[in-house]
Amino acid sequence: AVLDKSRGFVNYKRATYQYRDGSVRQKDWKEIYNHKRVKEGLRVQAARCMDCGVPFCSSDHGCPLSNLIPKWNNLVFKNEWKLALDYLHQTNNFPEFTGRVCPAPCEGACVLGINTPAVTIKNIENAIIDHGFEHGWVRPLVPKVRSGKKVAVIGSGPAGLAAAAQLNKAGHLVTVYERNDEVGGLLRYGIPTMKLDKRVVARRVDILEREGISFKTNIEVGKDLAAKTIMDENDAVVCALGATWPRDLPIPGREFTGIHYAMNFLESWQKQQQGNSNPYISAKDKDVIVIGGGDTGCDCIATSLRHGAKSITTFEILPQPPATRADSNPWPTWPRIFRVDYGHEEVKLKWGRDPRVFNVKSLYFEGDANGNVTGVKTILVQWSKDDAGRWTMKDVEGSEKTYKCDLVLLAMGFLGPERSIVEELSVGLDPRGNLETPRSKYNTSIPNLYAAGDCRRGQSLVVWAIHEGRQCAKQVDKDLMGSTSLAGPGGIV
Ligand code: FAD
Repeated sequence: AVLDKSRGFVNYKRATYQYRDGSVRQKDWKEIYNHKRVKEGLRVQAARCMDCGVPFCSSDHGCPLSNLIPKWNNLVFKNEWKLALDYLHQTNNFPEFTGRVCPAPCEGACVLGINTPAVTIKNIENAIIDHGFEHGWVRPLVPKVRSGKKVAVIGSGPAGLAAAAQLNKAGHLVTVYERNDEVGGLLRYGIPTMKLDKRVVARRVDILEREGISFKTNIEVGKDLAAKTIMDENDAVVCALGATWPRDLPIPGREFTGIHYAMNFLESWQKQQQGNSNPYISAKDKDVIVIGGGDTGCDCIATSLRHGAKSITTFEILPQPPATRADSNPWPTWPRIFRVDYGHEEVKLKWGRDPRVFNVKSLYFEGDANGNVTGVKTILVQWSKDDAGRWTMKDVEGSEKTYKCDLVLLAMGFLGPERSIVEELSVGLDPRGNLETPRSKYNTSIPNLYAAGDCRRGQSLVVWAIHEGRQCAKQVDKDLMGSTSLAGPGGIV
């Protein structure tokens, strides 16, 4: 049948091929997405895009990168995949990462979402880039002219990689320093293989290397190599350190064996999975408690399940009511509603219950004579308004309970970047403990030292890290050369 885009939003329904069947996918470590991409099906989905006069999906509310979404939706509809890829790359260095792991605020901002499900923007983005790789269209682009300037990037997560890619494109000689044994930051050792296959990361790093970027791993700057030395050897230095300093839970019994930070659990396992013979924290045959209900907590749940945990419970505190779209969260922004993620769905399919227990606070850890954790004592909390009308949490009397466990994973967020470089150079921090820069700027308190990504804005999203890396590169290039031709949001120079 002939596809009609002019009334596609009326005639066609949203269909996602997003996830594989939950009861099947929980038995393996492969990506959870269903990559079985029916091209004709996607063209129908692209035909649902209304090409709005004001595309909120591309705005700051919808996409930090200002991806040209209606443009490439239309090109997919017209079967012009190569051109769609060119437009996608104009604003996003790594669509294969965001196409997989982004929570897609663009879909939350899609105008169709007012009264019908949004366009499947994320699926379309991922299909364009995967199609591009399959057809050999994603090739290294080596800069024709070198500027004679040297720039170092410290940290190789999405912010560092995006900054490096852009600075290299501008002709600077870029060296990326990484303390871990592999490049990629949380893309490599953080986000599980089920959400992002590590071959997808390696494939992009290989292209960046062939474009001329040099990567130095196993070097913790500020410890193995002085930050001062790197500052002296380069015209500019970009800190893209991430924000993985974990929030602790200093309650009685914290010292018992079997209580770990979520990142130690995820990272040690992912290293093992990727061929490193280090010891790892296993959830096999254990009663697991995950404290913290964000994305990291969900990844701990899904990993524990695949290890073969005996049971999994997670404690989560709901945001103060109302937990739905409120005056402070108007359309078109990502609705901060409470959602079921892939890990919760998988546990429910296996044991018939959602692993989450809501509004529970941990009081203390219980342990045995050998010092091993055996349980968590908890109390329920309730939101109520105080006399001044502010929401506060109160303990619910008589609601104490002990949850049995032999593995506890702390996934309660992060406090900012780790301190080695910050201390060595006495870099200025903001009140939240992140590297301070002026508003909408990326220069720190130290001349020629810049900051981008989670170490600047706090633990965030891959799409924001890429945005920051690109914006920071633009400022560095301008500061070094007097002007810049690097593109900013929306691909605009
Ligand atoms: P990172 O990715 O943290 O990279 C920083 C790098 O700097 C690291 O490799 C670190 O080793 C290196 N480094 C630090 N200090 C030094 C030093 N002194 N010397 C040398 N190297 C150093 N976001 C999403 O959009 N979708 C998701 O599904 C998602 N899932 C997540 C799951 C988990 C478990 C976690 C923890 C985060 C997740 N996020 C997700 C958030 C996202 O991964 C981050 O926002 C993003 O990776 C930040 O990028 P970055 O480059 O700023 O920092």
